[in-house]
Amino acid sequence: PGPIVLSGVTVAYDRTTALRDVSLTIQPGERVAIVGPSGAGKSTLLALLLGFVAPTAGQVRVSGVDLATADLAAWRREVAWVPQRAHLFAGTVADNVRLGAPADTDLDKAASAAALDEVIEALPEGWETMLGERGYGLSSGQRQRIALARAFLREHATLVLLDEPTARLDAASEGAVVEATLRLLAGRTGVFVAHRPALLAVADRVLRVDDGVVTELARPVPTGVGG
Ligand code: ADP
Ligand code: ADP
Repeated sequence: PGPIVLSGVTVAYDRTTALRDVSLTIQPGERVAIVGPSGAGKSTLLALLLGFVAPTAGQVRVSGVDLATADLAAWRREVAWVPQRAHLFAGTVADNVRLGAPADTDLDKAASAAALDEVIEALPEGWETMLGERGYGLSSGQRQRIALARAFLREHATLVLLDEPTARLDAASEGAVVEATLRLLAGRTGVFVAHRPALLAVADRVLRVDDGVVTELARPVPTGVGG
């Protein structure tokens, strides 16, 4: 895959301009962290990369193809997206991983030994004994790992998008989720909204979003960054 290039991208919602004239290039294999206060436009940036929102002005190009004219379904098959909150339904943990995967996940292909090993590793501890139990009552950390396990099923993903995968986690869960996140990122391009040092430490670049304006932070990351 080629680079992801944003040129002069503005995203205006009805009452807010979420991103203002953003230009940036993400090279294949790069790990880009996004920091910034709540409401700054971080989630909108991820939604833009998935084609869930379209630029009001400017272009998003993937390997030279404008997402506005691209086959979005085909592009999304290349993306493993870990949303901020995994939606769970009544059923087993395993059902929640398999059936909660995006509709276009090829579950037969994803059943390769390598993918299943990763999924099982990412499942909440004690997942075997939780079979038959309902999704309710899982901790934030367990939910995050279900979201990660779903993403592992997208074996052919070239881009991983994570929206604050370690927010709301205690220290013990954070370690496990960071570990699973690193396995998911291996060999792929990664863009992740993150504030905790453990994830920022694995980023090649850190972008700060502030009121829709994106700036690149010099490394090392100063303490107290974020929101
Ligand atoms: P962040 O992820 O940094 O918290 P968001 O991208 O979610 O920021 O939001 C940026 C701004 O756009 C905020 O002012 C938010 O209220 C607004 N916004 C986000 N999504 C929508 C939407 N679907 N419709 C209208 N306004 C939105
Ligand atoms: P919806 O319109 O309800 O989002 P989808 O079938 O597109 O329906 O997605 C269902 C759920 O699957 C989403 O809520 C999201 O959590 C997840 N999802 C969608 N696309 C992806 C993706 N590319 N990678 C990982 N998860 C995804």
